[in-house]
Amino acid sequence: MNKKSKFIASLIAIMGILLSVSCNSCQSAKTANSSTYSNEYKMVSPMFNADSAYSYIEKQLSFGPRVPGTQKHVECGNWLASKLKAFGTEVIEQKANVIHIEGQEIEIRNIIASHQPQKEKRVMLFAHWDSRPYADEESDREQQNKPIISADDGASGVGVLLEIARQLQNNNTEIGIDIMLFDLEDWGQPNFETNYIPGDWWCVGSRYWSEQQHIENYKAEYGILLDMVGAANATFMHEGYSMQYASQLVSKIWSTAANLGYSQYFVQKNGGYITDDHVPIIENMNIPCVDIINLKNSSTGFASHWHTHNDDIRNISKETLRAAGQTVMEVIYKEK
Ligand SMILES: [Zn+2]
Repeated sequence: MNKKSKFIASLIAIMGILLSVSCNSCQSAKTANSSTYSNEYKMVSPMFNADSAYSYIEKQLSFGPRVPGTQKHVECGNWLASKLKAFGTEVIEQKANVIHIEGQEIEIRNIIASHQPQKEKRVMLFAHWDSRPYADEESDREQQNKPIISADDGASGVGVLLEIARQLQNNNTEIGIDIMLFDLEDWGQPNFETNYIPGDWWCVGSRYWSEQQHIENYKAEYGILLDMVGAANATFMHEGYSMQYASQLVSKIWSTAANLGYSQYFVQKNGGYITDDHVPIIENMNIPCVDIINLKNSSTGFASHWHTHNDDIRNISKETLRAAGQTVMEVIYKEK
């Protein structure tokens, strides 16, 4: 999620030139007493529990910043894997050593949890679980070198997916679901490093998986990425690559959200092109993927807490978590 590359990508998109994807980077729904939402729409999915998702975010933050290569990261990863196992999913951990931006070797750890692994028709839901080691959007240079706690940018998507995993345990979908927590998404080159270091430093875990899956012949109908899905008044605009490669899925998700009364979050506006975990999966596996991500008409394209130390629990809204989580659940529970 590099500001410059995003800006350039947006410009190119505006010019209508097809860019190869190698570029870097309700009103809360009426919580009714039944599963009936606005417009007489009959919800088919179980009620998403936003308190539960919120508690999974708090738990991740309790470990501290989950920067790859640190003990806090190991401990949080252990907790995530054990939690997903406790929810009855089949967990496969993919570990690999990669050389990262400063020439250092880092062990990455993708955590993949399959529900009903025997089912052929599958959908993948994914998020990144690592924390950014810099706060490079801070104005104070001293603050920029400290890792962020990453409540929204990381923990929120994971919290929503853990709650979905918990729900799947008691309520089977007709299709198989794979919940994938990718590592080392958010260690791209910081703004304060002015010498460009060539390489793919964003989305390292998902790129690794897109080149080498956890099982042979893995297939999914489509994928949904949740990134920064926790902030109050989030606006999930139509992200550029999602529109370019999975516009039908965008329509399906956004119309589902509207049926549930979440149009204020799932806004029908085009946002920028974001280098995020869906890009390597689209590129290398040809799986249509949509990024549900909070986009703003700001200079960075994101909310003001993005890549700052303000990305903490105070920004997390249960209403937003519910809008994102219930919408994704409704989409997967409707699949046959
Ligand atoms: Zn980030």
